[in-house]
Amino acid sequence: MNIILLAPPAAGKGTQASLLTKKYGFKHISTGELLRKSLEANDAVSLEIKETMQAGKLVSDAIILQLIEKEFLVAEQGIILDGFPRNKTQALKYAELLTSLGQEIDYVFYLAVPKAVAMERIFGRRTCPSCGKIYNSRALENKEKCMDCNTALVKREDDTEETFDLRYETYIKETSPLIAFYQEQGLLYEIDASLSTEEVFASIEKVLSKESE
Ligand code: AMP
Repeated sequence: MNIILLAPPAAGKGTQASLLTKKYGFKHISTGELLRKSLEANDAVSLEIKETMQAGKLVSDAIILQLIEKEFLVAEQGIILDGFPRNKTQALKYAELLTSLGQEIDYVFYLAVPKAVAMERIFGRRTCPSCGKIYNSRALENKEKCMDCNTALVKREDDTEETFDLRYETYIKETSPLIAFYQEQGLLYEIDASLSTEEVFASIEKVLSKESE
């Protein structure tokens, strides 16, 4: 099973991917998370990646495709992609990779959310730097530590108003054309992601259960 989550920044891709992973045992691949982990290397490449992320731009396709291919080599079960592909080049390369593995994309969930809602969410968001768990303002309830691994929660460096605007612009220009791209292939399912986490998850599950009947 191969699932793609396509969405503007802060629409809830990471949260929904985690819920799907927990329930169905998929492997969750978040390119954003992989990039954040790669920053620990503190070398010339990671410095460049950090600058690109803080500028709200896309990291080079070569770096991203290398990360994805490495993850696929160790993937045994279904895969849920969170934050990839993010442009047409990546989408075409991903199609090639799947063909070479004798696989195909099963679902592309487009998590649609107005910019203002996404922006509001971004300011309340905290993440666990250790396990990647995401907390929104409602779930935070003044907690400062991760409920799963007790690590102190942090605010992502790119979750500022200025970077959000740049990330959103990048999304509109580079990523949003993929909505039509996957729609034409009959793979796209639009989900209203302005609803609560539970309601969004239920909408995704409804599609999954209908299709497997
Ligand atoms: P995310 O955690 O998905 O919000 O991604 C955070 C940042 O990582 C993005 O704003 C980009 O700078 C970078 N990034 C994540 N995924 C990709 C990708 N597939 N292609 C290029 N850059 C990416």
